[in-house]
Amino acid sequence: MRVVLVDPSRTVLKFVGRLLEARDHEVLAFTDGESALDCIRSDMKVAALITSAELISMSGLELCWETRLLATCDRPIYVIMMSSSQDRHKLIEALDSGADDYIGKPPVAEEPYARLRAAERVAAMQQELVRLATTDSLTGVFNRRAFFERACDACAQAEAGASLSVILFDIDHFKRVNDLYGHDVGDRAISAVAHEAAAESTLVGRLGGEEFAMLLAGQGLDEALVAAERLRGKMSALQFDTGHAPLTITASFGVSGWEAGDTIELLLKRADVALYAAKTGGRNRVIAADANRPIPEVAPPGSRLRAVARG
Ligand code: GH3
Ligand code: MG
Ligand code: MG
Repeated sequence: MRVVLVDPSRTVLKFVGRLLEARDHEVLAFTDGESALDCIRSDMKVAALITSAELISMSGLELCWETRLLATCDRPIYVIMMSSSQDRHKLIEALDSGADDYIGKPPVAEEPYARLRAAERVAAMQQELVRLATTDSLTGVFNRRAFFERACDACAQAEAGASLSVILFDIDHFKRVNDLYGHDVGDRAISAVAHEAAAESTLVGRLGGEEFAMLLAGQGLDEALVAAERLRGKMSALQFDTGHAPLTITASFGVSGWEAGDTIELLLKRADVALYAAKTGGRNRVIAADANRPIPEVAPPGSRLRAVARG
């Protein structure tokens, strides 16, 4: 575990640092809270903070608090307060300031190990919970909510000038697949197309039953059209064992590129209008969004984008 260790005494830092390094923890040692906080802010791999309560300018409690504010669902930081004081009120204050745990100073050898083992258990559990909350269980790609959350970061970069495009696709006549071959075969088809999409983009979301969105960061409309066409070919080449003749499927694609003043909703809406055009134009094809085409009104909360674009 990468641990930031803070104490005004270099002797304490050396002593505790050696204890931790002996168990393969990576220790970044600081004598003041400000430098420690800068390090925690900039180094996303820091997973734990062990700080003395008694620091010189920024107090240990303040450092706990500031570190707690940096911790997110995606980035757990386990905070351990270290103090020579036996005062129980200090312990309460530390916990209320964001500390997860408390150790005496100087710690006995096994104690920090056990505390960091607890930290690793909590971090692993949190990571698993985040994975479960953000992943679509059938396909392994992001679920709708996680896709939109992550898309915001890509949009911020696009606003700053980076290229960005989106591919929206939907399997053709999928109801027939379920009706003719059953849901198990349908599920396998959904998983397979998601797998192909994930090979083209790191940000793929399952927006609905057999409808997916892919963000292509750093790629403009032309590159996205090439990627969509490649995917269309790969999907139409997939074969699924049904117990009878192998099943093949096709999908339709709508593609749009980031325009100045865009939002993720507008970007997706243009791709959705293009996807609708691909469906009505015969399916199994890629259509580029026309930036000049008027955008239909935004759907009321709860309704699907598609309902307005296609309705
Ligand atoms: P279109 O070409 O116009 O898209 O026709 P379609 O039949 O694919 O129509 P639509 O997209 O509306 O149908 C989606 C179907 O996908 C309906 C639903 O039963 C099925 N579906 C949704 N989620 C799942 C799933 O998780 N597994 C399976 N097997 N089917 C699903
Ligand atoms: Mg469909
Ligand atoms: Mg659909």
